[in-house]
Amino acid sequence: MCLMGQLNLVSLICRTFKIIRLKNLPPMDSSDIALLKTFTHYFLHFVFPVFIALIFYRDHWKKVYLILLATMLVDLDHLFANPIFDPDRASVGFHFLHSYYAIAVYFLMLFFKGNIRIIGIGLLFHMLTDLQDFYLWNH
Ligand SMILES: [Zn+2]
Repeated sequence: MCLMGQLNLVSLICRTFKIIRLKNLPPMDSSDIALLKTFTHYFLHFVFPVFIALIFYRDHWKKVYLILLATMLVDLDHLFANPIFDPDRASVGFHFLHSYYAIAVYFLMLFFKGNIRIIGIGLLFHMLTDLQDFYLWNH
C-alpha cells in the first residue's frame, strides 16, 4: 500500500540525512528504519519516475512523468480489500491489479508503442516498488 499514515516530509528528509551524515552510526532504531522505508517508498513513487522520463523520453518528459504518476491509480484496487491496508500483507500477488496475471499484461504492454508502453513501464515499476517495500524491510 502506498499511502501510509501522515507524513511530515521536511522532518523525514532532515532525519534521513542526519542518519547518513553521522560518522559513528548508532544502531538505527525501528522508528528510523520505518522512516527510511517510508522515504524510499515515496522516493520511488514520486522522484525516480522523473529520471525514467528524462532518460528515456527527454523530448516530452513532463507528459511521460505525469503518465508514470497516473499509474499509481492502480492502487485503487486496495479499496476492495479488507482491511484496505495491512502491513503484514504483500500487495503484489494479493490485489487484482497487483496479481501476477495483471503483471503479465503490464509486461506485454512494453511491446506496444507510445502511451501504452509508458503505462506498462509505470505499472511494472510500481510493482517493483511495492515488492521492495514488503520484502526488503523487516516488518
Ligand atoms: Zn501498489
